[in-house]
Amino acid sequence: MNPRMHARPKPEAAGLGSAAAVLWDVDGTLLTSGGVAARAFLKAVEHVTGRAPLPDGIEFGGRIDPEIAALLLATVEHDEEHVPAVLERLHHLVQLDLETLRAQTRVLPGVRELVGRLAGAGVRQTVVTGNIRSVAAAKLGSTSLVPPIELEPGGYGDSAATRADVARAALLALFGEGWADHTADCWIIGDTPRDLACARAVGLRCALVATGRTPVEALTGIGADVVLSGLEAPGDVHLLWG
Ligand SMILES: [Mg+2]
Repeated sequence: MNPRMHARPKPEAAGLGSAAAVLWDVDGTLLTSGGVAARAFLKAVEHVTGRAPLPDGIEFGGRIDPEIAALLLATVEHDEEHVPAVLERLHHLVQLDLETLRAQTRVLPGVRELVGRLAGAGVRQTVVTGNIRSVAAAKLGSTSLVPPIELEPGGYGDSAATRADVARAALLALFGEGWADHTADCWIIGDTPRDLACARAVGLRCALVATGRTPVEALTGIGADVVLSGLEAPGDVHLLWG
């Protein structure tokens, strides 16, 4: 098997080119943005609790911000009732450091081209991300991906309590009450097993790309429709396109 291409879309199913919508994960999939938001998160917990959280050993990939807040709060023996205060503080701290965030944000290879190609094919695109809305908007606002990616109907860490419900919020915003009729024609593109679990929970198709911290081996054989090393190889994208 071509090591870059670990699974093909099922022949009867539509590929990306005829999708009703593509729901992009942000971090590690569309872009990287340095450590501004991560540092702000630690500071936010410290400001709220008076104690520096202990992030070592916690696996953050693909988690939504309220989950991350709860995990960090637990390291300083505070419970989930402080999550809203931490997220509020996170929002303010990121706003204070917007210039650094923007300077450090990089769109990942091949993303611009695929986003443009989807737009050309008339496929609606938004995001399903664990970031709270203001932080996602700050990251994406410093790229040229918005538009065609639409921020308004996206699903964000502050849209719902679980990643699957975040995706449902995005689908409701995109399609209205009849959103469930469209799920088989929608794709999530993400970089972690949690993106896949979210897609499966909601009935969406899923492409995983190993452009974040999870290596391609760990994304392979876990049930994604397509697994790619990245989005820059035209041959890989062609297969994903369908
Ligand atoms: Mg990600």
